[in-house]
Amino acid sequence: MVIEENVPLNNHTTFRVGGPARFFAVARSREELWALITHAKDKNLPLLIMGTGSNILAPDEGWKGLVIEVGIMGKQFSDQPDGTILATAGAGENWDSLVADCVSKGFWGLENLSGIPGTVGATPIQNVGAYGVEIKDVIDTVEVLEIKNGETHSFIPTDCRFGYRDSFFKQEPGRYVVTAVTMRLSRNAAPTLHYRDLREHFKNHKETPSLLDIRTAVLEIRSRKFPDLRKFGTAGSFFKNPIITTTHLAKLQERFPDVPHFPAGEGREKISLAWLLDRVCNLKGVTHGPVESFKRQPLVIVNTGGATAKDIRAFADFVASCVKEKTGIAIEPEVNVLS
Ligand SMILES: Cc1cc2nc3c(=O)[nH]c(=O)nc-3n(C[C@H](O)[C@H](O)[C@H](O)COP(=O)(O)OP(=O)(O)OC[C@H]3O[C@@H](n4cnc5c(N)ncnc54)[C@H](O)[C@@H]3O)c2cc1C
Repeated sequence: MVIEENVPLNNHTTFRVGGPARFFAVARSREELWALITHAKDKNLPLLIMGTGSNILAPDEGWKGLVIEVGIMGKQFSDQPDGTILATAGAGENWDSLVADCVSKGFWGLENLSGIPGTVGATPIQNVGAYGVEIKDVIDTVEVLEIKNGETHSFIPTDCRFGYRDSFFKQEPGRYVVTAVTMRLSRNAAPTLHYRDLREHFKNHKETPSLLDIRTAVLEIRSRKFPDLRKFGTAGSFFKNPIITTTHLAKLQERFPDVPHFPAGEGREKISLAWLLDRVCNLKGVTHGPVESFKRQPLVIVNTGGATAKDIRAFADFVASCVKEKTGIAIEPEVNVLS
């Protein structure tokens, strides 16, 4: 286990911004993880747990303490007496490789979540979701290590208090490190195709799409919606879609009758922020220096080259104030903006 010093975080975040981490180490086992946490406590170093930094905006000043990248690997698949399959993966495994494995093995459940960057361990943190599926729909258990005392726990979904891009882990950061995630999958075909883009894609498809058909479609749709990470910096959708009351929606519809909205629980509706940014705020493709609201999906903020965290935060504030001014809605970031 090596603890490096002054490691630039712009090389460890997909936004490609962030100053140096005073200390940086990869934990490849629970024992290494606990040793690193203990080290940080002994030296009074603030701790930052990371996967691949695809949902983080790291500060230009860097991180004064210890950054731990969770690199615990391993995958296991076990058939259960009820016909389901339990897929367990270490927190450091690449999420999309796990999805690809499950698709090739004929296990249903993860295919709509194809192409999401990052690690397995980060997926429960914001309850990752895409194309009509959220990780909470398939999670069986989340294995964690408690930072306070090194105890291990196994949480079931109700313990995790999953919500839209939200969980107990996100609400109480700094309490647990996810070490592994187990998902319950199925060999029986169960396509989830209600999401508009997928419905459109398969509208002339005569037979039930296969797992591979769905994965290929999702990857193709995503390649149109997100910039190429090899060329540009981004953390995907910067903001969450706002959830407002039905009364507020009725008022909004008086001015914007076409605003897309989806039920989000008793008396609440989720609003398409991409639509508001495009049609109400005219922000699609708007640039401020090296920061852009992506031309094909304005929810995505892009570092086109050389942007700082300060530039990105200023742009995000500008977007949020446009939305507030035109609609009265206060939007929240989906990305973890660190200070
Ligand atoms: C191009 C692009 C497209 C994206 N599309 C989607 C999408 O469709 N749906 C979606 O939901 N997200 C999407 N994201 C966001 C991102 O991919 C996910 O949030 C992903 O799960 C983050 O994984 P990571 O390993 O990079 O986590 P990081 O960014 O490193 O960390 C994210 C948060 O989780 C915490 N964390 C990470 N690992 C652990 C752990 N093991 N234990 C405890 N805390 C941990 C970190 O402290 C941080 O708060 C997208 C991002 C990009 C760049």
